[in-house]
Amino acid sequence: MMRQYELVERVTSYDHDADEALLNKAYVYAMKAHGSQKRASGDPYFTHPLEVAQILTDFKLDAATIVAALLHDVVEDTDATTEEIESIFGADIAALVDGLTKISRLDLVTKEAAQAENLRKLLLAVSQDVRVLMVKLADRLHNMRTIDHVREEKRKRISQETLDIYAPLAGRMGMHSIREELEDIAFRALEPVAWETVTRRLTELRAESGDIIEEIEFELKQKLKEHKIKATIFGREKRPYSVWSKMERKHLSLNQLSDIFAFRVIVATPDECYQVLGVVHQTWRSVPGRFKDYISNAKQNDYKSIHTTVIGPHRKRVELQIRTEKMDLVAEQGVAAHGFYKDIKDAAKSGEGVSVPAATSNAYRWLRRLVDMMSSSDNPREFLEHTRLELFHDQVFAFTPKGDLIALPMGANAIDFAYSVHTDVGNSCVGCRVNGRHVPLLRVLENGDEVEIITSKAQTPPAAWEGTTITGKAKSAIRRATKLAVRSQYAGLGREILDHCIERAGARYTPKDLEQAVKRLGLKEVDDALSALGRGELSSVDILSVMDIVVDEKTSKPFTRQKVGEKSTAIEVRGVDKNLPLKIDPATGAVPGERIVGIFTPGEGITIYPIFAQKLQEFEDQPDRWIDLAWGTDVSEKTYPARIQVVIHNEVGALAQVTQVIGDMHANIENLAMVTRERDFYDLDIVVEVNGIKHLTRLMKGLKNASLISSVERKEG
Ligand code: MN
Repeated sequence: MMRQYELVERVTSYDHDADEALLNKAYVYAMKAHGSQKRASGDPYFTHPLEVAQILTDFKLDAATIVAALLHDVVEDTDATTEEIESIFGADIAALVDGLTKISRLDLVTKEAAQAENLRKLLLAVSQDVRVLMVKLADRLHNMRTIDHVREEKRKRISQETLDIYAPLAGRMGMHSIREELEDIAFRALEPVAWETVTRRLTELRAESGDIIEEIEFELKQKLKEHKIKATIFGREKRPYSVWSKMERKHLSLNQLSDIFAFRVIVATPDECYQVLGVVHQTWRSVPGRFKDYISNAKQNDYKSIHTTVIGPHRKRVELQIRTEKMDLVAEQGVAAHGFYKDIKDAAKSGEGVSVPAATSNAYRWLRRLVDMMSSSDNPREFLEHTRLELFHDQVFAFTPKGDLIALPMGANAIDFAYSVHTDVGNSCVGCRVNGRHVPLLRVLENGDEVEIITSKAQTPPAAWEGTTITGKAKSAIRRATKLAVRSQYAGLGREILDHCIERAGARYTPKDLEQAVKRLGLKEVDDALSALGRGELSSVDILSVMDIVVDEKTSKPFTRQKVGEKSTAIEVRGVDKNLPLKIDPATGAVPGERIVGIFTPGEGITIYPIFAQKLQEFEDQPDRWIDLAWGTDVSEKTYPARIQVVIHNEVGALAQVTQVIGDMHANIENLAMVTRERDFYDLDIVVEVNGIKHLTRLMKGLKNASLISSVERKEG
């Protein structure tokens, strides 16, 4: 059991202004109040509030919270009264203890209606003061740590409640160390067989890959050392519960489990995070789609980190989380990392945002909003559906700029949001601002996001949206609205191909010629034939032959390319997505405002190239495949990739300048790799996301002006 002076020393070690007398008084008061009470384990009851207080000192919580932790069970379990607490310890602490007393009897796994009401009370109590939630979570953590002493029926009930309510709440508050521990203990109590199996498999995998882990760690350390980056690296094994839920979620068997190790690389500055990323991507091949930059786009609960997965030594997939120490603290402790006591001025200097008071942190704001929302709902069942699903991570709550709540399934994006507001809003949606920032429409929404939809009357939703949305309402509306639009887009493409061919054959045709030809093909409408041609289901020769036009390669006119860029006949490029027949050449990127051409591949669709792309030379002798494209007028709200090559001086801060300028210009880094390294320079291959050529030009100019950047060029493929 922790001694009185040890507890006081712990608190004063981080909170120099802590009221020692108050801490001492609370220690003695709680010890006396609980007297000879015992826990289920047979230990004196007082060990429990003391352990709770100790957990909270790990999070460096203020003296008032520690005092409240010591006193958290006295009103509920002893003769002490709230009035007495107030007269001895003051109103602040009395309010904390009162909040804790109110929620101590709430049973959150009973009948639905009662559960909803209790959950509502719980959230109301903890939302009064975030410190109540801190104490409650520490209380639950200690109770879970000692759950083995509790009889089975109660153990299961408490564990279920922990898994349903407290673990998700801890996660929502960003306190992942607590969340993980709660989950693992509850998992073990509820599913002892599954826990056992998963744990055994983890042990096996650890034995199998023992050396590889060290090898990867060693190689990573070497590489970073070569680049003079100081970093702490540690391998981190996944927890049994997270492995289990991943298996359930993705329907995996135990044998399919391989990537159970993740590496965390901790460096001093955000700039170094990107440097590490560059080194890692240069050394190993990155796994597409696994790169996430949560530094430039922090998560709703303030989480910041870079994530990537590479194919490491022995072709093992290696997951990496790259972050600074401060980011790591926020990732582990969430709300608690924001500091509750006055001595946080040092943190403020770092400018990394951890000095934000906990009460105004994003995570806590989410809680307040949730509480506001539920106080406006007086139907317990409806509230339960909302809140519990919310905690189960199945649902996401977003807000209109006016503050109206839009509930969506987890994984929904702004397009789902728009259709949820109104079908017309969805159909005319061209872009969005989330929490005041322009973001791609496809970005998955998070709880508490404020979403402003930008509409344009000229818009028709691209067919590809159907595959990216998850709500039935959006899907069916998009299907309806795009059926005709897509058909006419293919038909336009077909018309373009047909015109090329007929022109090259030196022939002419009237609309009537075409109508008759289409009938001979057994099709009803001209657009059916043209869209089939555009899709590559019909060949131009099929149509020409029923039009009695013969193409003679010798006499046909050479293809002329001056049509490129003429808006009148060009096919408009609107949304670009893999489900549409249009895609942008990844080797160069392409952005609205620059001249583009398309290369048609039957059965695949059209690849968009900027006019300067070197690859285009390969198609010089295949004029049939050239398609005239022009950017639509409604592209500016989306972002497009452009690949640039940046040469920077091999000096401290150079990479920071690059990321700084790109950030300042409100562009995203989609990928960044360090290609070669000479003595004095680094070559960076960067894919940026911009909204058009003006944006890109401004960005490149900004980069060129930076003192440590030597040159900036557009990649030509
Ligand atoms: Mn307790």
